[in-house]
Amino acid sequence: MGGVENDEPASKRLKLVSGRSTGLSNGSSLTEPLVGSSRDLMARPLQYEGDKEVLGSKGVIKRVEFVRIIGKALQSLGYKKSCAYLEEESGIPLHSSAVDLFMKQILNGNWDESVITLHNLGLKDENIVKSASFLLLEQKFFELLHGDKIMDALKTIKTEIAPLCINNGRLLELSSCIVAATHCDSVGSSNQDNGRIKPRSKLLEELQKVLPPAVIMPENRLEHLVEQALTLQQDACIFHNSLDKEMSLYSDHKCGRDQIPSRILQILEAHSDEVWFLQFSHNGKYLASSSNDRSAIIWEIDENGGVSLKHRLSGHQKPVSSVSWSPNDHQLLTCGDGGGCQALGCFFW
Ligand SMILES: [Zn+2]
Repeated sequence: MGGVENDEPASKRLKLVSGRSTGLSNGSSLTEPLVGSSRDLMARPLQYEGDKEVLGSKGVIKRVEFVRIIGKALQSLGYKKSCAYLEEESGIPLHSSAVDLFMKQILNGNWDESVITLHNLGLKDENIVKSASFLLLEQKFFELLHGDKIMDALKTIKTEIAPLCINNGRLLELSSCIVAATHCDSVGSSNQDNGRIKPRSKLLEELQKVLPPAVIMPENRLEHLVEQALTLQQDACIFHNSLDKEMSLYSDHKCGRDQIPSRILQILEAHSDEVWFLQFSHNGKYLASSSNDRSAIIWEIDENGGVSLKHRLSGHQKPVSSVSWSPNDHQLLTCGDGGGCQALGCFFW
């Protein structure tokens, strides 16, 4: 359909990072299938959308972003091969080659190189570059200190971190770590993580919060979007009356009218004026009502849900504003309008 071959082999797309996949959408120039049976298991590329740069009926979903967050979700689910496959097939890498290099340098502890790469990421906001540099150099500092390279750590503070001229408070804390030297851990004891060396993966997470999402995607972005959609659907559900666990991704959430009581089964006409308050007994066998007609009524509920008058409770001089069952349902407290002891009644039955 649509001029796209269903058996289009997934190959050679990795190089088409820019998305200008001439000859890919029609399959005519593709020749080399991927090795192994994975090709058969592979989901079709976004063939129904062709090579359009935006997706969806409103055209607000950017294809590149869409594919990337899917890839990121696959990766975070542990489906790394599928993620790599998606990158290859779509020609859309999760990150640019520069960011890939940047992340590898961080994980390998190549701090000087990572700072250089950071400057080559094309970030326009100097403050972001400085903040990210600070995080990188702070990690370098702690790793040097942890390796007993105190002079090198000191040099990092003096010649690399201090010249950034940001976060002076933290700079002081780092300096105090030098003083404490081998007791560095104790410096941050009053504030966890303050003076401790952290895993490099943790540093990456912190950098994700500093750097623009278009450079390094935030974690769990797809999950966040899906949860947001479900929450909005739930908020817009007029007759909402179901549990969260009953929601499904397969269809839009909507509770029907039948999920709330909406049918008249019986009309009780024993009160001669407005009914002000109702309460079921705890065992569900009785219903108490209070009325402006200065009476309260206990109704009995039969096995079929039918309601009949059991007792009429009279004696109040004024309208009965509310009723309340005792925990064992043997007593009913009634409260008359107007205050004072005379307004209260307690019926045993
Ligand atoms: Zn609902």
